[in-house]
Amino acid sequence: ARPVRVVVLGSGSWGTTVAGLAAQNTPTLLWSRNKEIADEINIDRRNHRYLGDRRLPETLRATADINEAAHEADVLVVGVPSYAVRAALEPLAHELRAWVPIVSLTKGLEPGTRLRPTQVISACLPGHPVGLLSGPNIASEIADGKAAASVIAMQDDSVGTALQPLFASKLFRVYRNTDVLGCELGGILKNIVAIAAGMAEGLRVGDNTRAMVLSRGLAEMTRLGEAMGAHARTFAGLTGMGDLIATCTSPASRNRRLGEALARGLSVDEAVAELGQVAEGVRTAPTVMELAREVGVEMPIAAEVAAVVGGHRSPADAYRGLRRVTPGDEE
Ligand code: 13P
Repeated sequence: ARPVRVVVLGSGSWGTTVAGLAAQNTPTLLWSRNKEIADEINIDRRNHRYLGDRRLPETLRATADINEAAHEADVLVVGVPSYAVRAALEPLAHELRAWVPIVSLTKGLEPGTRLRPTQVISACLPGHPVGLLSGPNIASEIADGKAAASVIAMQDDSVGTALQPLFASKLFRVYRNTDVLGCELGGILKNIVAIAAGMAEGLRVGDNTRAMVLSRGLAEMTRLGEAMGAHARTFAGLTGMGDLIATCTSPASRNRRLGEALARGLSVDEAVAELGQVAEGVRTAPTVMELAREVGVEMPIAAEVAAVVGGHRSPADAYRGLRRVTPGDEE
């Protein structure tokens, strides 16, 4: 039988890295909206803007032609920021073959609709099995060949089982989970806590405070997840606690770097401009607070981060707020 062909949409650091992983297992095509990046990958085997001098596999091919990408796909991977998913998928609506499974790499909510990436994908491309790949996966480390693990979340485990070997390698272990909602929310919500962790770093609040933010951050992620129908135990796994630890502690995390820049006194606009990449938590924090209010869940850390990214509170004031823990609060 002819091998399964993987198409990855989005040539940022993670889309490119996942395409590189898949290219080691099966024919893989990376679509970039930027023709120069596609050419650079085909000719130089590099994506300098997002991955520096790291070499990509010889077998990885890139294109800027969305029709070529649509026709090639036996499996479609979506690696564009949350605000761009809908626009990226629109040209595929009548082009993608029926039943092609779709895997989201995106860890943010769509602004305005508050939809998770898998929901946006299902709305744009109905009838396809849709899930995600998520975990503690700082792109540059994986591109460097450092060992890591991730989770393929698919409601239908037989689809997850078929997808697993496309991404796995000796250095990249892929687990399966059928709790798509819980896995997806973990990746989305940890970005908010990572902004708080970055602010903690910048403010030098201390290791105890940081540990409090991580543990209580995980508690409020789990609380919202359960209220929305996810399994609490999912949040203790790779896509929850795992990704939370990686993102909150890695100096390479965009969300953490954004929090650090805010603590240095930059405005949100200045911090976003300095970063030059998307830190999903900036838009996600206020959106998650809307969701939390709707389902009646308290999220004090997300509330402080939302106030800071909304320009209503300084990072130092946010940390004063977080220390205002009422005696007798139950863990
Ligand atoms: P950042 O977007 O903060 O870089 O997060 C990376 C990540 O999700 C690692 O798993």
